[in-house]
Order: sequence, then structure tokens, then C-alpha cells
Amino acid sequence: MKERLRENLDRIRTHIRHICEKHHRNSQEIRLVVVTKTIPAEVVRELMALDVQDLGENRVQEAKEKIRHIKEPFCWHMIGHLQTNKVKTALEIFSTIHSVDSLKLAQAINQQAEKVGKKVDVFLEVNTSGEEAKWGLRPEEVESVLNQIESCQNIRILGLMTMAPLTDDAEWIRSTFKALHNMRLKYNSRWKLSMGMSHDYPLALEEGADILRIGSAVFEGVLETNEK
Ligand SMILES: *Cc1c(COP(=O)(O)O)cnc(C)c1O
Repeated sequence: MKERLRENLDRIRTHIRHICEKHHRNSQEIRLVVVTKTIPAEVVRELMALDVQDLGENRVQEAKEKIRHIKEPFCWHMIGHLQTNKVKTALEIFSTIHSVDSLKLAQAINQQAEKVGKKVDVFLEVNTSGEEAKWGLRPEEVESVLNQIESCQNIRILGLMTMAPLTDDAEWIRSTFKALHNMRLKYNSRWKLSMGMSHDYPLALEEGADILRIGSAVFEGVLETNEK
């Protein structure tokens, strides 16, 4: 199991380096968040020895259960839709929330963060593909949300997050990443972009991604060969 994990990670990291070289980017500045949703704790723990620091989960309850069995000091990222009634628990677990998709949620996080004396790093999730079933702010909402959360002292906006559509249409995928990059240019050039998953991270890197959220490519073949 561990060997397969190591191979998968090596392959992904090498690929990231190659793409960065080709596009004159510094691969040291790219952060890989390994997405561990549905992956059992004993497999997750192996990642510490493989030099992984950042892990992503998309459900508060699943993450909470899992983390009870993980003593290694990972940095946990919330990447899925967050209901306001789960904010309190979420802030006990996660250092960064990638999925702030409404003004109401931003304000709830700010309020809870203030209560517990924290500053929380967040990304605004933007629905740049325009798919109806997707979470995320509509691009035209972003400006007013930004204005309204300016007074929120306990959240720190690190950047923008998006999810590309599940499609083989590379140009559609690329256009959703480009749209996020253009929003960064418009609002704050220092922001980071959280975009790119197993199937589309090369395109995301080409379009300016700083943080990749990769799950299935890391765990491919790992659970199947987990013989005890
Ligand atoms: C599951 C998930 C990922 C990782 O997807 P893979 O295809 O497994 O790499 C990234 N971001 C979000 C928001 C997810 O829910």
C-alpha cells in the first residue's frame, strides 16, 4: 500500500515540476492538498512519511470522525460545501476553508472565529463554469460580497477557488480556470488560486493555479492492494 502511494505521489509531483518548468513557474510555490475524503484513517496516516502536509476533506462529520484516529500534525482544509450550522465544528478542525460560497457563510465563519479568538484563512468559491447544480458565488456576485465582508476582521481572504466541470471538453475546463485567473487580476493580484483536481490539474497549472486539490490520482490502486 505504501509503495503504491509513494509511486502515485512521485508521479504527480514530477508531473507538476515538468509543467511548471515548461510554463516558467516555480514548482516550489505550488501547494498540493491531498484530498482524503472516503479514505480510511490508517491510509491517511501514511502520508506524513511521504512529506504531505496538507489534507482536504469535504464533509465536516466524516473529517471529525477520521481525525480522531490521526495524531500526525496535518494541516486540514475544508473543500466542500459548508452549512452555517456546522461552522463551529469546522473551525475546530480546519485551518483553511476553500468553499466560502455565500455572504451568509462568510459572516458566520467570521462570527465564530471572533468568538474563539481566531483568524481563519478562506477562499471564495466561484462558480465559473455556470453549471446550475454547482455551489459557488456567481462571478457577478463576487464584488458585492467582497465589499460586504471587508469589515469581517476574523477572516483572511487568501484567494479564489473553483471546480471545473466534469467533462472531456478541455477548452471548457480551461475557460473556467481562466475566468478565475482573470478575477484575481481584477481584484487582487496577490491572491492564490485553488483549482485543479486529478483529471484537470495540468490545465489548472497552466492557467495559474497555486493550490491543487488532488484525491483519486493519489489513491489509485492503493486500497485494492492493501493486504493485511
Ligand atoms: C473530491 C474533490 C477534489 C479531488 O477530486 P479528485 O478527482 O479525486 O482529485 C477536489 N476538490 C473538491 C472540492 C472535491 O470535492
